Amino acid sequence: MSEKNSPRKVDKIVAVKGMNDILPPQSAAWETLESLVRNLMRRFAFENIRTPIVEPTALFVRGLGEVTDIVEKEMYSFEDRLNGEALTLRPENTAGVVRAAVEHSLLYGGPKRLYYMGPMFRHERPQRGRYRQFHQIGAEALGFGGPEVDAEVILMAHMMWQELGLSDIELQINSLGQPEERQLHRNALIAHFELHEAVLDEEAKRRLHLNPLRLLDSKNPAMQGVIEAAPKLIDLLGLESKAHLDAVTRLLECHGVPYRINPRLVRGMDYYNLTVFEFVTTKLGSQGTVCAGGRYDYLIEQIGGKAAPAVGWAMGVERVLELLQESGRDLSLPALDVYAIILSAEYMATVMPVLALLRQAGLSVQMQASNPEGMPSLKSQFKRADGSGARFAFVFGPDEQASRQVTIKSLRNSEVPQVTISLSDVAKWASQHTTKV
Ligand code: ATP
Ligand code: MG
Repeated sequence: MSEKNSPRKVDKIVAVKGMNDILPPQSAAWETLESLVRNLMRRFAFENIRTPIVEPTALFVRGLGEVTDIVEKEMYSFEDRLNGEALTLRPENTAGVVRAAVEHSLLYGGPKRLYYMGPMFRHERPQRGRYRQFHQIGAEALGFGGPEVDAEVILMAHMMWQELGLSDIELQINSLGQPEERQLHRNALIAHFELHEAVLDEEAKRRLHLNPLRLLDSKNPAMQGVIEAAPKLIDLLGLESKAHLDAVTRLLECHGVPYRINPRLVRGMDYYNLTVFEFVTTKLGSQGTVCAGGRYDYLIEQIGGKAAPAVGWAMGVERVLELLQESGRDLSLPALDVYAIILSAEYMATVMPVLALLRQAGLSVQMQASNPEGMPSLKSQFKRADGSGARFAFVFGPDEQASRQVTIKSLRNSEVPQVTISLSDVAKWASQHTTKV
């Protein structure tokens, strides 16, 4: 572009704080993880669901609970400019999936196993493992009440760690009981914290009578002692709730899945009851929870559907990828198969159909393109071919062009001899050199 036509230089525009670009080669690890998860979901008979990123604000206020960190301080909420509708960028997707299931009567024909992947938005302080736009992969089993499905979704996550080659992830489980048991616990909590009001911070004092369970979630170091001493819901569980928890852990034991009962485990949303769980690693500093979930038997009704039990989890994609990196696991895709070295732009009409044949056969091919001066020198193209990581170079030079041939050179293995083959034999060569992805 000439000087005269170039746009005026303006201040650089950069991404919003806490919202990241996912660039190659890192994006390849994302794609690999996503396809592994799709494969896993298929084996557990979970079907994909895709819901909007923007939802009515009321969905989250009603679904997650008014006095929760997410609803009180973390939501990106705004008014629709045209009609004043209160909207929110989804901070999580269980409420959205339930909304969609109710809206489209998905449970009409029986229970449903659904999964999703996508971005979520929370206005938090950005730090390692904590972003303002982050990604979750989630599984929701809607319409299932029995403990075997709690166990099944937990097993699914466990299998995922195994297939990713991740160890050092601890499964912690707790039970939040049923509403009556929570009421008992709530009263006991209020009494306990009232006795220790002096150590409570302002937020805790404000929440004490609104939602005392939330105090247990506080990260304030000064309050940890009194939180530690607070009455535990697990001690107040009735027989049925206890039996549910026992059945879940028994099934996990059958599969040899290790777990630890953590009576202090509470979740950030109000919709949970009975089983709650987290998969936690010590390898990621304080953002160690890579996957979390539980049972939410009252949410569907709360969002306006016919009452039905449900259980699910959500995994933090960034944290899992970081853990993979920490653990030295490389998820990047296999390298390129072929780099096409082309010595004159005039050969393109011959070359490009040959590359199409390779691609149709499943090989990945990078074509050398021209620059304003024409095609780069042979030496510079070989350098790029080497740098690309490709297994083979296909060389299209003047001799090859004249004889309708191509010279194939292995770039990774010097013992494989260089060959020159007829273009009509390329499809056969390709079928002998496809890699299993
Ligand atoms: P935390 O206690 O770390 O704030 P949470 O209880 O708010 O987590 P959930 O709402 O249960 O998290 O979300 C499930 C998973 O999503 C978390 O275990 C975590 O892996 C991931 N996650 C949650 N918030 C973020 C974030 N801001 N950035 C990156 N990942 C996140
Ligand atoms: Mg949080």
